[in-house]
Amino acid sequence: MITINKITIAIDGFSSCGKSTLAKALAKKLNYVFIDSGAMYRGISLYCIENKISVDKEINEEVLIQHLPDIEIHFELNTENQSPELFLNGENVENKIRKIEVASIVSKVASIKEVRQKLVVLQQKMGELGGIVMDGRDIGSVVFPNAELKLFVTADPETRAQRRFLELQSKNENVTLEEISFNLEERDRIDSTRKESPLRQANDAILLDNSNLNQEQQLELVYTMIKEKIREISLLSNH
Ligand code: C5P
Repeated sequence: MITINKITIAIDGFSSCGKSTLAKALAKKLNYVFIDSGAMYRGISLYCIENKISVDKEINEEVLIQHLPDIEIHFELNTENQSPELFLNGENVENKIRKIEVASIVSKVASIKEVRQKLVVLQQKMGELGGIVMDGRDIGSVVFPNAELKLFVTADPETRAQRRFLELQSKNENVTLEEISFNLEERDRIDSTRKESPLRQANDAILLDNSNLNQEQQLELVYTMIKEKIREISLLSNH
């Protein structure tokens, strides 16, 4: 009897829908690897800011493409909170990449084909062995089109802005609710309309609106889906 226990879980959706929170909690419960692919796009955006490749929110695409081979990105596990943290050329940038300055250019950076090519290769390598929960915008459609479980998460815009506002306030970021709402709207617009791998629900993804679910309810709901999926696959492979 074959028992399937490590699947690939792809979680996509709009900005600030709690995708990473869900993905992280699932990975912990399942003892899987958790990868926040957005952190990687944020890392490249931070590189642009620090190296003046981005000035006044305009990206010099040509220069960025030339610099791509010099940008090294990886995650390391923070052993205190068991959370993967992003390293950019050897520096832990987990806090820096969450700032609004980075959020305000990340969607432009993420619309560049060469940037996506570089990061998708890294993401696919991280998921080679299965047992991974990755969240982002193109995980079910491009990075892991064969993922056994694909979710497309959404929530109403006010709930999303409020959640992100509270999160940034708790980190002492000086930013208003209006700035956040604007940034989320703008990122969703750019992410959904870009030419390269636009944000869209994969045909076989399950739509999950979490506006009226708390974190525990959402986790239980998805955990049940995963157990069911693993049972289905095991039954099929033993047939
Ligand atoms: O997930 P997060 O909000 O941190 O992602 C930041 C940005 O990175 C998104 O708004 C999007 O532009 C880009 N992104 C992407 N593809 C992914 C993950 C993130 O284009 N797989």
